[in-house]
Amino acid sequence: SKPIVAVVGRPNVGKSTFFNKVVGRRVAIVEDTPGVTRDRIYAEAEWNGVHFALIDTGGIEPDSKDIILSQMREQAEVAIGTADVILFMVDGKDGLTAADREVAMMLMRTGKKVILVVNKVDKPTVPDDFYDFYELGLGEPIPISAANMLNLGDLLDEIVQSF
Ligand code: GDP
Ligand code: MG
Repeated sequence: SKPIVAVVGRPNVGKSTFFNKVVGRRVAIVEDTPGVTRDRIYAEAEWNGVHFALIDTGGIEPDSKDIILSQMREQAEVAIGTADVILFMVDGKDGLTAADREVAMMLMRTGKKVILVVNKVDKPTVPDDFYDFYELGLGEPIPISAANMLNLGDLLDEIVQSF
């Protein structure tokens, strides 16, 4: 069966935007309000003839740090249970956050292949604090702009090479 890629990350980093661009349809719900992905959403995707399944994770209206973190734990568990590859998405506009560090540790413990993606890098040059993301210990962060579809090809290459 097809490899499964789960997109995991804090609310509002752009997981659903990315998911819709890769799937080529508006399947996931994108909102300015954090955390509006109501369910796990699953779709088939393809890159250079390689087929895989993509899972968008999210949750219901997290309104506190505690809820966001417990939701992140749940996402990590879903990823552990079902995914072959975890796409850990962070926000290049926010820079590295404490929540990112916590999630990175959870994901590392899964023993699964994790690809670190820095979304919202909307310009060709990365911001100065981009290099902070190396501290997560997840290897080379890949800058993308899901909204502007920048560098998605490089990321998809990395994904299909990891299968
Ligand atoms: P999710 O909660 O992680 O699923 O995030 P969403 O996909 O719902 O996006 C949250 C917000 O970030 C929306 O306002 C998106 O339009 C915006 N967004 C998503 N990708 C990008 C990007 O590459 N650049 C910028 N500037 N904004 C983005
Ligand atoms: Mg979402």
